[in-house]
Amino acid sequence: MTASQPAAATDTARPKLAFRPLPVPQVDVRGFWGDRVDAVASRTAGILYDRCVEARMLEQIDPDRPSPGVVIPFHSPSPDEANTQGAEFTGSTVTTQMFWDSDWGKTIETAAYSLYRRRNPELEKKIDAVIDMYAKLQQPDGYLSSWYQRIQPGLRWTNLRDCHELYCAGHLIEGAVAYFQATGKRKLLDIMCRYADHIASMFGPEPGKKKGYCGHEEIELALVKLARVTGEKKYMDLAKYFIDQRGQQPHYFDEEARARGADPKAYHFKTYEYNQSHKPVREQDKVVGHAVRAMYLFSGMADIATEYGDDSLRAALDRLWDDLTTKSLYVTGGIGPSAHNEGFTSDYDLPNETAYAETCASVGLVFWASRMLGMGPNARYADMMERALYNGSISGLSLDGSLFFYENPLESRGGHHRWKWHRCPCCPPNIGRMVASIGSYFYGLADDALAVHLYGDSTARFEIAGRPVSLVQTSNYPWDGAVAIEVEAEAPIAFTLHLRIPAWCRNAALKVNGKMVDLGAATSDGYAAIRREWQKGDRVELDLEMSMARLFANPEVRQDIGRVALARGPLIYCVEETDNGGGLHRIALPREAKLEAHREPNLLGGIVTLSAIGSRAETENWGSDLYRSEPPATEQTTLKAVPYFAWDNRDPGEMLVWLREG
Ligand SMILES: [Zn+2]
Repeated sequence: MTASQPAAATDTARPKLAFRPLPVPQVDVRGFWGDRVDAVASRTAGILYDRCVEARMLEQIDPDRPSPGVVIPFHSPSPDEANTQGAEFTGSTVTTQMFWDSDWGKTIETAAYSLYRRRNPELEKKIDAVIDMYAKLQQPDGYLSSWYQRIQPGLRWTNLRDCHELYCAGHLIEGAVAYFQATGKRKLLDIMCRYADHIASMFGPEPGKKKGYCGHEEIELALVKLARVTGEKKYMDLAKYFIDQRGQQPHYFDEEARARGADPKAYHFKTYEYNQSHKPVREQDKVVGHAVRAMYLFSGMADIATEYGDDSLRAALDRLWDDLTTKSLYVTGGIGPSAHNEGFTSDYDLPNETAYAETCASVGLVFWASRMLGMGPNARYADMMERALYNGSISGLSLDGSLFFYENPLESRGGHHRWKWHRCPCCPPNIGRMVASIGSYFYGLADDALAVHLYGDSTARFEIAGRPVSLVQTSNYPWDGAVAIEVEAEAPIAFTLHLRIPAWCRNAALKVNGKMVDLGAATSDGYAAIRREWQKGDRVELDLEMSMARLFANPEVRQDIGRVALARGPLIYCVEETDNGGGLHRIALPREAKLEAHREPNLLGGIVTLSAIGSRAETENWGSDLYRSEPPATEQTTLKAVPYFAWDNRDPGEMLVWLREG
């Protein structure tokens, strides 16, 4: 295995201040994230491959096997029937879905990042075989879609609105880039370059080309990755075209529907808000529709804003960010309350028990936030990235890396548990690839600056002005807020180190080589900047008080009024039945109750729990009445809370984030 470095970035307009993430292999994580990455590398990556095979996905992509759509013709949906969760073809023994190429793409990507952590020749061989199948499947003109080649031949590019065609290409591109970087093997990268060339020959502003874009965004951010790894500007320009074209009139999805003889108004989701094509992206100011699609679109927009120095895109992104984070975000960093559209509803509508809050959507928020940081360090984005990372996204993966949540509710009566797999298996490989690549979210590197976005025991290697520098973080974060950073440069080198001071932290102290830094003077946009000539042995000490906090929701959130959520540092907490008994709704936490933190090294892989004295409404003396004129008696109880991400890893039972206050 050789770690190939990406080629020089494209020579598109490249703002000097762009902060780029470090490639995955340049950051070794230990501690909290080390455990998570180990779980993915040792278990999840192999499980993803096995589950894809068990779901019979190989049968869809392997040209040497009979097509499942041909073997058992039972019902093959027309492009207009294929419009909700992605079309399904169900024969008597085989179910196949139009987005399975995307699951392979994400599975390949997870495997690729995992190979950095842990060599796995057996898994690599299996992935190579999948890539060989795609090589055989690819058509001479470069086209590649297992659905349109094997299940619905003859219909390619007839329903971009519903059928995930470019979305699947995007995920395969991301998988190809990651696999090339991890193994040095170019085969899938070359396949996807040929496919991207074909796509560029079909779509674009030139006369005769289609003026379309995908109903499920993803191709945009994938083409940016492809442009960065190959140095080919045309891929970046195509990504920009898809973003610029979205929502323009005449509306592509209207014209496309008419072209296939369908009524554009017969759209299952009624409004193009569902796929964020209701208006041009620069005119959008509300986060609407399908949550994952929105996050992927905004991620692509942020990439293009950074690459082209496009302030009009940035202004739109800031409006959308404000809208999401002030009106439609769960305290866990989950987004999209509704199962109906897998997305957003109305302002302040944040039901807890029925929260959809798809794992992929929180992962998508991490993607978007991390790309906003490409435009410069700003804790407004990094704090949110941290919240989604530590709470609403990694809750989607069991601690051992083997089971998955699709929905991430904030309250459960005991019936919500992780799945071994899901009929629509988008979330497992999404959380897998995010965790396995966590190192790349830690830092942003500019020409003469390094921003530290995340803290945690880790070592990073990078170059500034062509000179190698390493940065070693020693910390027990997020359980403890003390972070020691050693900068090791072979020769003295001047650059600015930006350190995030999280908004949740009430007291922070910063020292450089033992000398206190005036944080007030050094900090802007939530980052303290230290510019100096760094010498071997320089040591930075950042002490972030791991503040415990009661959080309250805006009173417009009807589901949370009179309730309180507990947090410590970046972690949101919940109570579980296994620690507190059943009937969690009967527990109340008084405003004045003292919160205590307890280190529990033997619980859930080593966590800090919170406890407080609260009360519980008694049921014993209530009798059989449904209603009474007197309130129930209460008894004192000690409540114990665990980090939300770790729930449902022990005995099944109830769970609650928003506790009653009183
Ligand atoms: Zn998902």
